Amino acid sequence: MNIQTEFGITEALKNLGVAAKNNGTSTGLQSHGGDNFLESYSPVDGALIGKVSVTTQAQYDKVIETAQAAFKDWRDAPAPLRGEIVRQFGQKLREHKADLGKLVSYEMGKSYQEGLGEVQEMIDICDFAVGLSRQLHGLTIKSERPLHHMQEQYHPLGIVGIISAFNFPVAVWAWNTALAWVCGDVCVWKPSEKTPLTGVACQNIIAEVLKENDLPEGISCLINGDYNVGSWMTKDERVPLISATGSTRMGKIVGQTVAARLGKSILELGGNNAIIVTPDADIKMTVIGAVFGAVGTAGQRCTSTRRLIVHEDIYDKVRDAVVGAYGQLRIGNPLDEKNHVGPVIDKDSVNNYNKAIEAAKAEGGKVLVEGGVLSGEGFESGCYVKPCIIEAENSFKIVQSETFAPILYILKYKGDVHDGIAVQNGVAQGLSSAIMTNSMRDAHQFLSAVGSDCGIANVNIGTSGAEIGGAFGGEKETGGGRESGSDAWKAYMRRQTNTLNYSTELPLAQGIKFDL
Ligand code: NAD
Repeated sequence: MNIQTEFGITEALKNLGVAAKNNGTSTGLQSHGGDNFLESYSPVDGALIGKVSVTTQAQYDKVIETAQAAFKDWRDAPAPLRGEIVRQFGQKLREHKADLGKLVSYEMGKSYQEGLGEVQEMIDICDFAVGLSRQLHGLTIKSERPLHHMQEQYHPLGIVGIISAFNFPVAVWAWNTALAWVCGDVCVWKPSEKTPLTGVACQNIIAEVLKENDLPEGISCLINGDYNVGSWMTKDERVPLISATGSTRMGKIVGQTVAARLGKSILELGGNNAIIVTPDADIKMTVIGAVFGAVGTAGQRCTSTRRLIVHEDIYDKVRDAVVGAYGQLRIGNPLDEKNHVGPVIDKDSVNNYNKAIEAAKAEGGKVLVEGGVLSGEGFESGCYVKPCIIEAENSFKIVQSETFAPILYILKYKGDVHDGIAVQNGVAQGLSSAIMTNSMRDAHQFLSAVGSDCGIANVNIGTSGAEIGGAFGGEKETGGGRESGSDAWKAYMRRQTNTLNYSTELPLAQGIKFDL
């Protein structure tokens, strides 16, 4: 079967301006003409989708200069006008939703439904940002001095450098750009080297909006390449804010590099997310939440459920129900809506999956649902793996680390809810967490200051699938950054405190006397 023609990929690539002859050379400010290319192979069928040229150092410098120049115009535009541009961008995303959703699914491997969901998330954050563009606000604060006015206001920062991961190839960029743009910043994006075509497709969409409005193309820039290209930005003093999404390993390097020049960073890094199941939990809801959390996006969400922490009184029932549900999972082409689980991103990822299963077994883990790599018709890319479940201990080294694949560890806890919370908190990462319970007391304990230590803590909902209205991010080795809703916009601006004296005297703060 030719998946590209059968599932409308050929058409989608054309509509998005990334069909083979255009790869990497479409409109808008992006790298042109370098001699090196990123080749994008689909994990769905192993086909080469296209090539995108890698940005050279000279091209990078040109991009930054163009972005700097664009910032001078953009920061002066009234915020609601900037919001209007984001509104138009959201409208174009609505028009391209099916095509972009398909490309996300084909290039990254998540299901078409999840691809559509990712584009919807971009549309949602645009809507949020449009409203925000009329609400960017500061404070007024009463002064201790007579006839003085004190206020706090926010100004744009300049260039926001965005480094993103392969698993949310388009939404993470939009979370950052939609906010940064209404705040008056300009953006330079380095997408994952594993999903370069979705990056070019997004750049084409915003470039069209900027052109139609006669605005400088430097408001949105794209650079392509691996970590080397990313590191030019992290070291560059012309880029005041770096928003980096990816592994904790990457975040530790990026965080230190940006801090060394006293730049600002937003770090959105790895998770090791758990669901606690208390004795009175609803088992049906638990199974849906846990299975979607563990196998959705083939276990490649930063919020994927990796650990299921079940109270001993309900352990056997929950284990059997979850194991039973795995028997119904259909693995295959993610563009085919009857399948639940698609491929992982590449062969390296398959190796990591195999190694993690071996490591868990070596540490004494008991396999409840057998894993394995699928081969034969429909699995030619070599990237399809079986979701597996392993009975384990939280202390296992492998359980303590994030494996970006569909492996679920099931752990038993005894005692009260705080014993379950201790297991959930007993890892280095702190992104998403959940409790399945019908006890109001346990739910509130979980959300209290002595409860979950994660950036996201849910009750009777799984760990994955956040809405854009709340701030998104995690604690500890997840990096502490916040993006998306609530007041996350403040990270894209610089705060300034102003004191204005409208008297004819010059009284000093703290009553200090200084007479001449
Ligand atoms: P990765 O760390 O391999 O790469 C992420 C991005 O960082 C890529 O664009 C890469 O080129 C760039 N990069 C890597 N090293 C760099 C360096 N030294 N300097 C500058 N740039 C560098 O991650 P990945 O495999 O693409 O994505 C999976 C990881 O991302 C998982 O750990 C997942 O949990 C995490 N993630 C976190 C969130 C979140 O919001 N917390 C969201 C999505 C993914």
